Amino acid sequence: MAVMTPPGIKVPGDYIESVMISVKAKNPAEPEFHQAVQEVLDSLRLALAKHPEYQSVHLLERVVEPERVLMFRVPWFDDQGNVQVNRGFRIEMNSAIGPYKGGLRFHPSVNLGILKFLAFEQVFKNSLTTLPMGGGKGGSDFDPKGKSDNEVMRFCQSFMTELQRHIGPDTDVPAGDIGVGGREIGFLFGQYKRLRNEFTGVLTGKGLGWGGSLIRPEATGYGCVYFADEMLKTRKDKLEGKLCLVSGSGNVSQYTIEKLLDFGAKPVTVSDSNGVIYDPDGIDREKLAWVMDLKNVKRGRIRDYADKYKKAIFMPTDIKLEHNPLWNVKADCAFPSATQNEITAKDAANLLKNGCKLVAEGANMPSTLEATKMFLDAKILYGPAKAANAGGVATSGLEMSQNSQRLSWTREEVDNRLHKIMIAIHQTCYETAEKYGTPGNLVNGANIGGFLKVANAMLDQGLV
Ligand code: NDP
Repeated sequence: MAVMTPPGIKVPGDYIESVMISVKAKNPAEPEFHQAVQEVLDSLRLALAKHPEYQSVHLLERVVEPERVLMFRVPWFDDQGNVQVNRGFRIEMNSAIGPYKGGLRFHPSVNLGILKFLAFEQVFKNSLTTLPMGGGKGGSDFDPKGKSDNEVMRFCQSFMTELQRHIGPDTDVPAGDIGVGGREIGFLFGQYKRLRNEFTGVLTGKGLGWGGSLIRPEATGYGCVYFADEMLKTRKDKLEGKLCLVSGSGNVSQYTIEKLLDFGAKPVTVSDSNGVIYDPDGIDREKLAWVMDLKNVKRGRIRDYADKYKKAIFMPTDIKLEHNPLWNVKADCAFPSATQNEITAKDAANLLKNGCKLVAEGANMPSTLEATKMFLDAKILYGPAKAANAGGVATSGLEMSQNSQRLSWTREEVDNRLHKIMIAIHQTCYETAEKYGTPGNLVNGANIGGFLKVANAMLDQGLV
């Protein structure tokens, strides 16, 4: 059915194009932010045709503009007594449906554009969880790798000394992300408590003995596998017996592997920034425990896996290659769980050539726009990050609820809630894709489903 465009309103395609041109002009040299906005706006074409009211209040121009961007100096002393200076950020993107919520990333590649892409994605992801959380993201170009615990602590204390004046349990609640795990959250929380003289749920991912939630460390990986299971059910298929590729070897990868094993699947790869491990025998529970000790306690490199398990092959990272050998291993399912743009068009071609039937994104925006298009065109089961990895932030939301009630729920209770939330997110994406005329396209389903709730809240709250 043709949709009438009211007078004075551009057709959605023209409107979206003009917003995209302005985003690129106003945010130069931020390719990841452009990419994230482009993907969402492409899907919104379908929604805007039905909702001209959004255009008349310039809703897209407002949703792509962060409510607030904080950028600050983080000076600290290293173990030799030298002064080090890093840059800290917090992007408070959108608070239409709740306090800003989203992780902190400590990695040398961190810059304003990367955090803006992550904050933008977070807005729609948080909306999909059905919990009342706005979107934010932050971090620093600090690299925790190779630093002593004392150096990490001094950095975290300096970072929080500035950040504390901008956050709070009803304002902005950060969590972990790449390079920010339990150790860092502990140091950050300690400094917040000391400066503000209050013990509140200002961060999630806290330790179990001081306000943390059971299942929060596992949540992103577990949730991603629950989402994959839901996708497979729509084709009367299941994870049992499936060969699975997992990238990364950090928090998301570890618990993706654990849940895949629970479902009877066979994960065969892990990686880090130095290279890829392929273990044709499969990564079983004993090997996973070894990886967890290597990464979380010894803070070692994944290449050591091949010394320990002789049948495994290590393929070092080769920056001259325009593809990642991990995605060229023959398998049924892929769980990218390391970082953005880790699946290029060439990687996507390799996955499809080898018969991969499912991609569930644990990492944020791991597929380039070209790779995403290839998965959609091939009509494989494709779970985009903002839906498939929303279990982490959903469980952070559950941690906030427990903190407010001053209660702790059991492991089973949190896991059950997480599972139900992932089923609901899949259903929203699936039904929204169908309703807007692109059945099976969960990218459209997630983008439109996440957007509508935020957009309607913004309409209700006036021009703020
Ligand atoms: P971790 O720091 O625990 O692990 C990250 C893993 O990815 C490490 O193995 C790391 O290797 C690898 N990696 C990171 N950057 C690069 C890079 N530029 N090139 C190659 N490998 C890289 O982080 P998480 O597991 O928490 O996060 C992984 C992904 O999941 C990120 O995209 C994050 O945004 C996303 N995510 C995380 C959530 C969470 O709850 N933690 C929630 C939702 C999404 P190395 O050690 O060599 O750097």
